[in-house]
Amino acid sequence: MAKRDYYQVLDVPRNATEADIKKAYRRLAMKFHPDRNPDDKEAEEKFKEAKEAYEVLTDAQKRAIYDQHGHDGVDAARQGGGGGGPGQDFGDIFGDVFGDIFGGGQGGRRGGRSQVFRGADLRYEMELDLHQAVFGHSVEIDIPRLIECETCQGSGAAKGHTPVTCDTCNGNGQVRISQGFFQVQQPCPRCRGSGRIVKNPCDTCLGQGRIRRSRKLSVKVPAGVSTGDRIRLGGEGEAGRNGGPAGDLYVEIQVREHAIFERDGDHLSCEVPVSFVTAVLGGTVQVPTLEGEVALKIPAETQSGRVFRLREKGVKPVRGGQRGDLFCRVVVETPVKLSAEQRDLLRKFDESLRGDGRPHTPREQGFFDGVKRFFSGQ
Ligand SMILES: [Zn+2]
Ligand SMILES: [Zn+2]
Repeated sequence: MAKRDYYQVLDVPRNATEADIKKAYRRLAMKFHPDRNPDDKEAEEKFKEAKEAYEVLTDAQKRAIYDQHGHDGVDAARQGGGGGGPGQDFGDIFGDVFGDIFGGGQGGRRGGRSQVFRGADLRYEMELDLHQAVFGHSVEIDIPRLIECETCQGSGAAKGHTPVTCDTCNGNGQVRISQGFFQVQQPCPRCRGSGRIVKNPCDTCLGQGRIRRSRKLSVKVPAGVSTGDRIRLGGEGEAGRNGGPAGDLYVEIQVREHAIFERDGDHLSCEVPVSFVTAVLGGTVQVPTLEGEVALKIPAETQSGRVFRLREKGVKPVRGGQRGDLFCRVVVETPVKLSAEQRDLLRKFDESLRGDGRPHTPREQGFFDGVKRFFSGQ
C-alpha cells in the first residue's frame, strides 16, 4: 500500500503550525487509540499512521526533509543517521502528548483498578559489516533506559512510607468526565492513573519509582541477518509502572555496504577484473570470498561480462536453508600505459587478425547488424 501524505493523514494544511499538528494528532489518536478500539486492526493502522506523521512533522529537521523529498527523503535520513547510537524511545511520544490524557504511559488499560503501565519499547540501531552479518556477531551494547528504582522497589515512596490511595478517584485511577454528549472515562489527573499518591517521595527516584540507568547487554546476532532485520529482546525495554511489565528492546540491524561484494538476499556478487590476455588464452585468477581467496579458472576466449557461479559461497540464510552462491562477473581490462613498442605489437597483432579472413569478434558482427536494422527501421 502506498504511503499517504503526512499532511493528508493529519488533515492539516502544509503550513500548519506545530500546535495545529499536535491538535490534529491528538484528535486522531483519541479516536484510534488501541485502548479505545480493542482488536480493531484498522484503527490500529490508522493510529500508527497518525503517530508516524506526527513524529515527522513535529521534528523541524525531519519535516524539512519530508517537505523537500517526501517519504523517500525521510526514510533515507532514517537509514543514514544514528547508526549504533543510543536507543531511541518509542514511548516518548506518549509522554509528550498523552501526559495528561492517558497518564503518561503506554499501554494503560482502562476500566481497571489502579492502573499498571507496560514499560516503553526501546529501539537500538546496530550497524554491522558484511562479515559480521553473514557469520553472526556477539557484542555488548549500552542501553540507557528506565529501570525499577531499587531503593523503593518501584513504589516511589520513601523508606518507611507507603503510597496512599488517591482520594480523587478512590484508587480507581479513572475519573468520569462529560465531553459534549458523552461520558468519558479518563485517567485520574491527580494520580495520573496510578490510583495512588506518594506523599513522601523516595530520594533516589524522586517518587517516580523508576530511574534512568545505562545497562550493558550482550547481544548475539545470528548469522545471516540483513538490513531491516529486528532482534527482539523481551523484557529488556523500560521498566513498567505500578508493577507493569517491562517493554521490549528491539535491535535493528543495518548492514554497511561492502567495498567488493554486493548482496542480494542470500547471494553475493562481485566483479573480477581479468587481463585481456588471460581472457583470450585462459588461466586462473584469484577471487575473493568471505572466507578468503579461491582460484577461479577462466576458460580461453572468455568475454567481458561473463558470470561464474561459486556455489554456496554466499550467505547462509538466518532462517535456515541452503547457503547462497557467489556470482563473479568478469570484466576484461583494457591495458593502459603501454610503451611505443607494446602499442606497435598490438598494431601488428591487429593486422594479423584482419589478414586471416576468420571472424574474431563474436559480438561485434551481431551488434552492427542490429545497428543497421535499427536505422533502416526493420
Ligand atoms: Zn525510588
Ligand atoms: Zn487518582
